[in-house]
Amino acid sequence: MEKLIRIALDGPSGSGKSTIAKRLSNELNILYLDTGAMYRATALKAIKMGVDSFDAVGVGRFIDEIDLEIKYIDGTQHTFLDGEDVSLKIREPHVSMAASNISSLKSVRLKMVEMQRKIAGNLSCVLDGRDIGSYVLPNADFKFYITASVEERANRRYKELIERGHNVDYNDLKMEIEQRDYNDKNRDFSPLKMADDAILIDTSDMSIEEVCNTVLSYINK
Ligand code: C5P
Repeated sequence: MEKLIRIALDGPSGSGKSTIAKRLSNELNILYLDTGAMYRATALKAIKMGVDSFDAVGVGRFIDEIDLEIKYIDGTQHTFLDGEDVSLKIREPHVSMAASNISSLKSVRLKMVEMQRKIAGNLSCVLDGRDIGSYVLPNADFKFYITASVEERANRRYKELIERGHNVDYNDLKMEIEQRDYNDKNRDFSPLKMADDAILIDTSDMSIEEVCNTVLSYINK
């Protein structure tokens, strides 16, 4: 039987994790789970229901029964909420902030982690998120903590959103990223934190190609 390989990619918003994870998934032919999409879909559910994303009681009323599904269509992850493919909707800027807020709720994290472990099951996989190496897959074979300066991350997000036709302001984006970093690092339960055994990669001055090659060089060692 082939040996399972499980890879955890953690780090703050906009550090390039998802691009790297997609590359790893293709190169190694393993499942990729973007866990942020699940927090985003949960935030979208709260928005649809008119529940504030910090309202633990309101969110608590729907979280256990949330109709959230991850499907792979032609090898790409699609996120379904109440039967609707919301993969694009969850990328909208107002959902990003709500996702960051809602992810601080313990009930949400417990539900998401349970689903993530079920999806990853007994498969070779790469998961990206904030708490994969420290909490979701503590026994992952490889753990990377991918980061970059706030300016560089805001820059990347700005370019990405402008390309998608969103009208955004660089300074607003930078402030939003700082706020999301703060939320992620300071929540009580399962905060963003580099696992003790993770490899740190600062991508500020690296191309995606260089980052992918660096990550792969550790894995292929
Ligand atoms: O990775 P992405 O930016 O799409 O994630 C959206 C939000 O979900 C993040 O701002 C973060 O607060 C939260 N998140 C999390 N834990 C994860 C993945 C994402 O708290 N494993």
